[in-house]
Amino acid sequence: MGMISTSACKQRFGYAALNSRVLGVFLGLALSVACTASNDHAAVRNTADVIFFGGTILTMDEAQPTAEAVAIQEGRIVSVGRRVDVMKTHGRETELVDLNGGALLPGFHNAHVHPALAAVAEGWEEISGFKNPTAEATWAALAKAVQKHPPGEWVFAYGWDPILVKGLGTPTLEQLDEIAPVNPLFVTPQGGHQAFLNSRALAEAGITGDTPDPGHGAYYERDAGGALTGRLVEQPAFFPVQQKYGMPQSSRGWRESMQRVFRRHAEMGVTSVTTMGIMIPTKEVFDIYRDLTEAEPLIRHNVFLTWYARDQLENLKVDEGHSLFRVKGMKIWYDGSPYSATMLLEDPYVDNEFTRAALGINAGARGHANWKGDELFVAMQEAHRDGWQIAVHTQGDRALRETLQVMERVASQSSLVDRRHRFEHLMLAEPALFERLAQAGISASFHIQHIHYYGQVLRDSILGAERAERMLPLRSAMLAGTRPSLHSDHPMFSSTPMELVQTAVTRSTREGDQLGANETVSIAEALRAMTLNPAWQVHEEDRTGSIAVGKLADLVLLSTNPLEARPDELGQINVDQTWVGGILVWDRKCDSNCDRTAGATY
Ligand SMILES: [Zn+2]
Repeated sequence: MGMISTSACKQRFGYAALNSRVLGVFLGLALSVACTASNDHAAVRNTADVIFFGGTILTMDEAQPTAEAVAIQEGRIVSVGRRVDVMKTHGRETELVDLNGGALLPGFHNAHVHPALAAVAEGWEEISGFKNPTAEATWAALAKAVQKHPPGEWVFAYGWDPILVKGLGTPTLEQLDEIAPVNPLFVTPQGGHQAFLNSRALAEAGITGDTPDPGHGAYYERDAGGALTGRLVEQPAFFPVQQKYGMPQSSRGWRESMQRVFRRHAEMGVTSVTTMGIMIPTKEVFDIYRDLTEAEPLIRHNVFLTWYARDQLENLKVDEGHSLFRVKGMKIWYDGSPYSATMLLEDPYVDNEFTRAALGINAGARGHANWKGDELFVAMQEAHRDGWQIAVHTQGDRALRETLQVMERVASQSSLVDRRHRFEHLMLAEPALFERLAQAGISASFHIQHIHYYGQVLRDSILGAERAERMLPLRSAMLAGTRPSLHSDHPMFSSTPMELVQTAVTRSTREGDQLGANETVSIAEALRAMTLNPAWQVHEEDRTGSIAVGKLADLVLLSTNPLEARPDELGQINVDQTWVGGILVWDRKCDSNCDRTAGATY
């Protein structure tokens, strides 16, 4: 890159310009001491801080889809268009960034992630099917993980994967007691919708045969005789274990773990995330998250709180936070996961030895809803009345049909227009329903990587070929006008945006089969589902999501033009640079010591 280095003062000025009043004032004070000259100069100059040129610029702006150059000033985009015109903003101190034939896009927006969970899981033992492809290897990895801990210490392992690992099945209480006789042990699958505990863990968490189920669709599984099996289903059932999670013991530890998660997202070109429920839903974690993103700005955060734990954060209101962290809405879970028989289906799961033994799905099972009777309507009505944007986890086709009915009932009493309520994941969804979503102003976000990672098993063993063909109907949702987005549900799957784009375009499984050719989208459409659409979904489309004059300078520089890449190679395109609010937060050619945000006194 033809980069000229920038002074720390100028970078901070960029942030001061983009950030909220509070942060801006704070930075403004610091700058008035440290960078007086720069401020004075900036006040009178009318030239760009940085101009990008020399590659493809894909703006995602329908009025001007491509451009030759882009200029930014004080954290915002000030000129987009022909190089000769944009260069008119060039001044004495303007940096020139030569794209060297690469492509500049608006920064990616991951529409559904769980950073607090990712931060906690950093300290957990990975036993995933990706690394341990046989049952023997998985058990060996678990045994090794247990041995690393002194007697009595909690052991947390994630990635138990009976889907990828043939014959692994569900671990029994006896097996877990045998492998960890002197340690409390907690094992969770990739998706995190259930957990398996040994007897010691149950005892230390205080979960006994008399413990009532927590509700919200969550429960402590019991056998026919009423004894605990060690299986915990859905997040609210994990609460008694959460204090034991091996969570960072200090707010500093939390901040470091979370910042590592955000830094990895910045390295992938992600400039905004939507946190879809803080999965450690305590006031302490919320405060640490909000304060971290203010004290050490890196990427932007749109935050949904968890409805079932909202009393922890009673006084919060919509849009509270600061420029990089805004509280947006409430997350509600209506059903669960396809891999634990909790996805709510119109027709039963496929019944075979695999679904019975590996997933514990009984013949004829169709999953279940987490809500009964009018409960969901009452909750949605309350959330809507209080001004929240509502996001509902709806995985199965019946889950979508039922929640849509409830949403329409809410709409019949009070307009939903422009609230942008949304449905999450949508593994199975009747395409015709998207017309109704669009009519009610409801949007959709797709957990597209189910196709890549588990598509084969979903087709062959869990859903059958006919349903697998119409999984995750992204194209139908687009055609209906619901402005759908893509998400990784990190830490479930990697957040690498171009991998999600690749799956949306190819609908290819890891093994190379295509599922549902009718629902493929173009590369440009998939990119839109990772940029402008998710920005729109959180009411941020006036600030981010496309490259247009007046928007924040959140940009990603890719090594090649994705529109010219082979579809099956999209996921391998490198991210060369990531810019947030006019600040370079990631540069592939640098190691950590040229991280420009490091050492700044924000
Ligand atoms: Zn999620």
